[in-house]
Amino acid sequence: MVDIPKEIPEHKHCMICGKSISVEREFCSEDCQEQYNGIMKKRKRSNYIMIIVMVILLAVLFIPMLLQG
Ligand SMILES: [Zn+2]
Repeated sequence: MVDIPKEIPEHKHCMICGKSISVEREFCSEDCQEQYNGIMKKRKRSNYIMIIVMVILLAVLFIPMLLQG
């Protein structure tokens, strides 16, 4: 993540390449926008995988406990 100093409120940085952009924009170009969309898609997918792995781990940990009474 890019650290934006609080002393300069009137501009942002492109989240992909870090270029200065105006406040109402999120990215400097459509290329960066597309790149960001791709990253977010991948991140969403890996979040699902993380949750599934967690659930499986919990099940593996708790099912024997439940079976033992
Ligand atoms: Zn950019």
